[in-house]
Amino acid sequence: MEFKKCARCGSFFLSDNEVCPKCLPKDKCDISKLTNYINNNNITDFTIANLSQNTGITLKNINRYLNSNSIPKINL
Ligand SMILES: [Zn+2]
Repeated sequence: MEFKKCARCGSFFLSDNEVCPKCLPKDKCDISKLTNYINNNNITDFTIANLSQNTGITLKNINRYLNSNSIPKINL
């Protein structure tokens, strides 16, 4: 385990995750929202900006989920 800075709120915590225990449920919520959105729509039409606008999830977080393969791959 490493001492890390939370990718969401910036607080320090000790864990193998990218976010602190307080933000973990928020990440899970965002990921299921994005996954549902991607699965229920035509994937080829997406841009990250588009996804962000339609789901209310920040570009920074979407990029983080994409990099960690937490959400389905989209064509950008
Ligand atoms: Zn946090």
